[in-house]
Amino acid sequence: MFEMETEFRRLPGVDKILASERLTRLAEVYPHDLLVDLARKQLECERRSVAGGRAASAFDKIVAVIVNRVRALESPGLRPVVNATGVILHTNLGRAPLSGEAVAAMEAVARDYSSLEFDLDSGTRGSRQVHIESLLCQLTGAEAALVVNNNASAVLLGLSALARRKEVIVSRGEAVEIGGSFRIPDVMRQSGSKLIEVGTTNCTYIADYEEAITPRTAALMRVHSSNFKVVGFTQAVDIEGLAELGQRNDLTVFDDLGSGCFLDATVYGLAPEPMVQQSVAAGVGLICFSGDKLVGGPQAGIMVGKKKLIDKLKKHPLARAVRIDKIRLAGLAATLLHYLKGEATGKIPIWRMISASVEEIAQRAEVWAEASGGSSQVVDGESMVGGGSLPGSTLPTRLVAIGEGKVKGKALAQRLARELRRNESFPVIGRISDDVLLLDPRSVLPEEDKIMIQALKGLVAESKSG
Ligand SMILES: *Cc1c(COP(=O)(O)O)cnc(C)c1O
Repeated sequence: MFEMETEFRRLPGVDKILASERLTRLAEVYPHDLLVDLARKQLECERRSVAGGRAASAFDKIVAVIVNRVRALESPGLRPVVNATGVILHTNLGRAPLSGEAVAAMEAVARDYSSLEFDLDSGTRGSRQVHIESLLCQLTGAEAALVVNNNASAVLLGLSALARRKEVIVSRGEAVEIGGSFRIPDVMRQSGSKLIEVGTTNCTYIADYEEAITPRTAALMRVHSSNFKVVGFTQAVDIEGLAELGQRNDLTVFDDLGSGCFLDATVYGLAPEPMVQQSVAAGVGLICFSGDKLVGGPQAGIMVGKKKLIDKLKKHPLARAVRIDKIRLAGLAATLLHYLKGEATGKIPIWRMISASVEEIAQRAEVWAEASGGSSQVVDGESMVGGGSLPGSTLPTRLVAIGEGKVKGKALAQRLARELRRNESFPVIGRISDDVLLLDPRSVLPEEDKIMIQALKGLVAESKSG
């Protein structure tokens, strides 16, 4: 019979827990106070549980829970994974993986002091932006540049500095949500500027912008519809037309490109993605885009444009609040240098993935399929760029399909996906479609094939034993 008093008495004291063999071993590495704290918390849980009418846990179980708590603190949840989903810019998986050169540059400034805001020639204070500004101007043809924390903060800074208490004209089809609750109307409100929507969801003409211009207008804004596509009867104003209207009316034109592509995406069979150079050439005053989408660098918000406007942004109080750190600055500079050297498709991981041929991917898929031991097939499929880039645009690929034709389709696919996520050395993430687990070599760099092969062999062993 359950006797609450007896159960309470069965609970060990903190000293007894600390004297257990497993905790004595942990005490060689961790301070006494930490272990006492964890033991007390666990005993508190136990007391609540007993008070709720449950039996006290066995001594070994209590010790095991405490040891697991310590293990969980040791291995943080943020760890590298293999992205076999076929979505190249997967926001949940950290968007762009970086080139070896970018990683080396980041490691170097992380390890040592750096000339971040120090002019080595004069020995006086410098600006953290000079390192990156000349690179960006050279690449895009812009007069000036500024790099901040991410593109969302670039949009907020741009609007706050240039359009506070004024009106900004945006096409109704572009007053959008980018995801992660970043909505253009909300950002506008936050910046203190007033959104004036013109046109309709599917069609906006230059005359719509023109008619909405008043003495309170500060800017004409374009927001690239980066995560959806309006198809059918549509009409949008091109950036050249908008830039021209801005010049004629002495208004700032602000272009939120989202992805910010430096290369011509159509060369790789993708839908046309607006290029940064094109907006600069059109005479747009301020252009902003992410560092970790199609640029393929670390998280950053990149702003390029007219010097007069960029200077205003640099002096705005928000600029300090959204400034970029030295490590990502170094990684971004190394990434931009790949473009300048003309080696972007060979060096920048996401461009290596985008430009990989189907033949090359097919060969790797065959090797993967072989490792998974006859339970899989290589099939045609499509990879996506993702990450709010090139909506609706896909690349042909070859996929390894596992679990097709089995009786327990759905349950099996989910079990296999879980096994791969639990892969000890490197979790592998696939995607499930029509109850089949699909693995796409396109979003996995060839250097990681050995991890995939080891994981797939483990999967076979697991299903034989289980
Ligand atoms: C992705 C995106 C943003 C937000 O960029 P982050 O770098 O994620 O902050 C803003 N605007 C557009 C059009 C985007 O596509």
